[in-house]
Amino acid sequence: MSIETLKPFLAETYENFPKGRFIGLVVLRTTRSETIFRTEGTGEPMCREFVQAGINNDKKIIERLVMTKRKQVAPERRYGREFLRAYGLLYKNQKEETLCSLNTNAPCEMCIDCFLYGFAAGGGGAQKSRIWTEDAFSLLPAHDLIGDRTINAIFENGTMRDEEGKASTALNTSEYIKPGVHFLDVVTLKDVTADEFRYVLGNILLTSRYGAVSSRVGRMENQILGVFGGTAELPSSLELVQTLHDSMTVTANNQPLEHPLNNDLLINEVGKVMDMWRSRRGISVKLSDDELKAVIEDVDEHWSEAQREQFLKRLDESYKDFRQAPDSEKASANNGKKSKRKKNQEQDQEQEAVSEEVEE
Ligand SMILES: [Zn+2]
Repeated sequence: MSIETLKPFLAETYENFPKGRFIGLVVLRTTRSETIFRTEGTGEPMCREFVQAGINNDKKIIERLVMTKRKQVAPERRYGREFLRAYGLLYKNQKEETLCSLNTNAPCEMCIDCFLYGFAAGGGGAQKSRIWTEDAFSLLPAHDLIGDRTINAIFENGTMRDEEGKASTALNTSEYIKPGVHFLDVVTLKDVTADEFRYVLGNILLTSRYGAVSSRVGRMENQILGVFGGTAELPSSLELVQTLHDSMTVTANNQPLEHPLNNDLLINEVGKVMDMWRSRRGISVKLSDDELKAVIEDVDEHWSEAQREQFLKRLDESYKDFRQAPDSEKASANNGKKSKRKKNQEQDQEQEAVSEEVEE
């Protein structure tokens, strides 16, 4: 019943062609432990970007932490795929004869994950992702949110010197993002069905580890603060944090905002910003608080122990008529030719897939 409000922006069934239906999510991601988002390996600084603090009032330039889109999507896809694997809903890649995998160039092109998040196969076709994400920005400046830790390698005798008295050289300084840091971002779901919507929301709500992951670091909590339906995308993640910065600064009587921010206060301010978005061009519907709560309950129910398997199998079944052997049929449909643009697109996507692998 709750998802009814979004019906005009949901697809009845999966289709190969887009039809201009947009669902926008506002996601708050809060670190719950030390967290590490680096583009490169150990020792590299945390991902950050110089941007304007606010949008209308405070135009000074600050450096914000960035959670790149790949850092968000890769763990969320992995979450869903664990259950696809458990229920036998990942398929074998036709050419390589290997099971669908995120970290190879041989997606199966047949599973829920491939249909939703897209793929670019080595030689075959491509499916554009229908889950559009952007880099998420921290609300506060990076320097407030980063801690430094020096890791000393201690010898087995419990000191920094070995038995011969030689000093340990394995000193390593490493930066981390403090617990309680807020990242905000906007996710767009394009032409998805109700079950696809539930699948993606489940992945977002149930994923709890991001970035460099160990038993100690990488814990995050995601909350969906708003759901919109319309014929265009919501404002960008950056615009969201900038508007929020302005609005919170006004509420704080122009006192500088400081870490750690009060969670409830922040959520309340995001609510004000989202209310302003109701009248934006292309936005038709914003779920009320009660409707949002009901939607989240609906998602939780579908992902519950009692319903998950049946739900995922039903979603999997919905692609039945659209699965095809990647090579033969697609090649003949294109008369064996591909436009140069298409080829380039596919190469871009492949490169993206490869860099995703490096980053993790
Ligand atoms: Zn697949």
